[in-house]
Amino acid sequence: MELILLGTGSPPPSPDRSGHADGIVVDGRFYLVDAGRNVCRQIAAAGFPVKDVDHLFFTHFHSDHFTGFADFYITRWLFGAQTPLRVYGPDPVEEIVKRMLHYYEYDIEIRAEEGKTRGGLEIEVTTLAPGGSIEVDDIQINVEKGTRHGNVDDIISYRFEADARVILLASDGSPTEKLVPFAKGADILVMHPCLPDQIVELIGQTPEMAKIIAAHHATTEEIGRTAADAGVGMVILSHLTPPNAAEELAVEEVSRYYGGKVIPGRDLDRF
Ligand SMILES: [Zn+2]
Repeated sequence: MELILLGTGSPPPSPDRSGHADGIVVDGRFYLVDAGRNVCRQIAAAGFPVKDVDHLFFTHFHSDHFTGFADFYITRWLFGAQTPLRVYGPDPVEEIVKRMLHYYEYDIEIRAEEGKTRGGLEIEVTTLAPGGSIEVDDIQINVEKGTRHGNVDDIISYRFEADARVILLASDGSPTEKLVPFAKGADILVMHPCLPDQIVELIGQTPEMAKIIAAHHATTEEIGRTAADAGVGMVILSHLTPPNAAEELAVEEVSRYYGGKVIPGRDLDRF
């Protein structure tokens, strides 16, 4: 099992980082987690045909985690998918899918009239709740409420297990008391740090505003302590807030609390 960081960016458009998305690869099959900006291009850049991606897992529904969903859905169909897309996520995943389906009705009808078959348009939705688990192909997937993320009550962390490897995607937010036991012994822990001093310094927010933003995200200290307590093999930092924060500073801060490898993730890095 391999992890590909498809998009390590944050909400502001960046020439260097796509919107948030990750890929899990098992036996040559690609599984998508979140679908931020540019997700189709990033799947292609990672060397996988979009039409062959049949499973999409969402962590939560802040727009930067699904702005690429509609593009992914229609592109997958247009370029050859014949099987239903399977979408998993916390509430309100069903509603998000239902609304998205209206978006391309006009386009789909035009293409269907021109003779394009409708195979590949169907979406099967599975709502996941914290504490739940599913098996997809040969992957054991557990979900938990591993983070607290402002007003977003419906957010889940994913634990993927296959090929005797464990990849833990914590998603946005500061750790809950569940994250350490949930991440126990993972080979890879991916977390999203927030550096409040850099919010003030680099994007000119007031210290008060920086504090509010930081309260909805993981501090570097929380990431370091979580990694150390869970005994993970390495920590990957993604989706930095602010997006132009100094990576080496984030790594240095996390490393004060965790002695293992801390890697600042870049788009298309593989682990
Ligand atoms: Zn978020």
